[in-house]
Amino acid sequence: MKALRLIQDGREALWRITEADREKLFRLLFHRYPDSEWGTFFRFGYRHTCWGILVTSVDALKPEAGDLDRKSPLVEFRPGYIRRALAALESDELGVGLIHSHPQDCVPLPSRSDNDMDSYFSEEFERFGNGRPYVSLIVSRNARRELSFSGRVFDRGAWLPVNDCMVVGEQLHREHCRQTPDRLAPDSEPAANETTQERLGQLLGTDAPRRLRRAVVGVVGCSGTGSPAIHLLARAEVGELVMVDPGPFKLSNHQRNHASRHADLSVRPAPAKVALASRLVREISPATKVTSFVGDLLDEPVLDELLRCDLILGCTDSNYARAALGDIAVHYLVPVLDLAVQMRAENGILREQIGEIARYAPGLPCPWCRGRVSVEGIRYETASEAERQFRAEAAEEAELRGVDGAQYWGGAPPPEFTVGFLTTTVGAMGAGYAQNLLLGSGKLPHNRFQFDLGLSSLGVVTDERLPRECCSCRKTKGRSDQACADRSVSRPSHWPKATRII
Ligand SMILES: [Zn+2]
Ligand SMILES: [Zn+2]
Repeated sequence: MKALRLIQDGREALWRITEADREKLFRLLFHRYPDSEWGTFFRFGYRHTCWGILVTSVDALKPEAGDLDRKSPLVEFRPGYIRRALAALESDELGVGLIHSHPQDCVPLPSRSDNDMDSYFSEEFERFGNGRPYVSLIVSRNARRELSFSGRVFDRGAWLPVNDCMVVGEQLHREHCRQTPDRLAPDSEPAANETTQERLGQLLGTDAPRRLRRAVVGVVGCSGTGSPAIHLLARAEVGELVMVDPGPFKLSNHQRNHASRHADLSVRPAPAKVALASRLVREISPATKVTSFVGDLLDEPVLDELLRCDLILGCTDSNYARAALGDIAVHYLVPVLDLAVQMRAENGILREQIGEIARYAPGLPCPWCRGRVSVEGIRYETASEAERQFRAEAAEEAELRGVDGAQYWGGAPPPEFTVGFLTTTVGAMGAGYAQNLLLGSGKLPHNRFQFDLGLSSLGVVTDERLPRECCSCRKTKGRSDQACADRSVSRPSHWPKATRII
């Protein structure tokens, strides 16, 4: 047998699973506890990224009677079960992997027979799956019901370590793998600043600042709602922020952008909004790692980095970005908190000052199900100037002929007039809910709600509808890149490529 050596070039695998699926899986894997093991094949989606590989659990191919040897305390796969797992590779594009338990209080590290099994399965599964990766995971629990796991992914000839598992549910957990019998964390724990985070520690426990130091939060859109959220997450000394915005800073942004200074108003060419946000984070919290892009979430390198995040804040007001965030939440199991604002006035009197917060996650309705995005809107936002011109002319001609021109042209969206107090309120709420989900210190009151600052009892309206029966979000949970065909929007070729800010 070949020795299974994990690569040491910095590449790694990240495993994502929903809380509900993990619950079901563990019930199966620990049902012969405390003394005996159990195991199952499972299907997963995957994506090769610049940092390694993402693996997203889809479902278990549960063992049926006779698939595993019940008489053995160890997990032993019978040929019929292996054939069924290999057949699953032929019927779908998903990968197939293996997860098994070790007995209670035993470390979840591969034994010699686990190495033999993985060496055999990795070759067979790679061959039957035409080069698809193979995943092997081991879990165990101690008498206090504390879990630990280890894992590795065989991909194109190399074994990558599974360092982290992200569990996505009402709360979010990032769990580190077990590396050696006595060491739990794969890397040195980042130390939190005890003096600046003293109040947070007193409020939510001394562990809270340290947990935030481990968290990675994505922020898509770095202006009205994004910049106050970034500001507060930096003050909470979150471990890493992945920030994305394609646009330059405009003078009219200064009124609500928390990152701009007066001196920025005269800089030519105008600085990128994401560059200002990066400067803000560096000045407030040098310990926070910043990964930022002048670019768009439809750019593949940007998506790679967003998929490492514990959670993403959606701080844009475009249809295409909202639709793409909905896809990311379902396909890649990365939860999203989507923030929006709307203001309207008549003759100097405010009629609407609405804030909205919505959660996108597997199992919840996507932006399409909730009627939050439109095909016309996406078409307008992703069109080139020439296409917009062409469609406007076609619509005009149609109107002249007495035909409804809307099929050619829904018209330009109306301008949004929002001001800093409302964008800051909603951005701050988004940062607060993000923090609570990361710490397990609070839940979202509703999966989607709106309020109006000018109405009695703040005019709260909630939306707890279920996903639509026919929507693709019901069938694409965790399918990662294998759900590419079901993406709502693809990157227009005329858009400039993303650039990473160093
Ligand atoms: Zn084992
Ligand atoms: Zn849907």
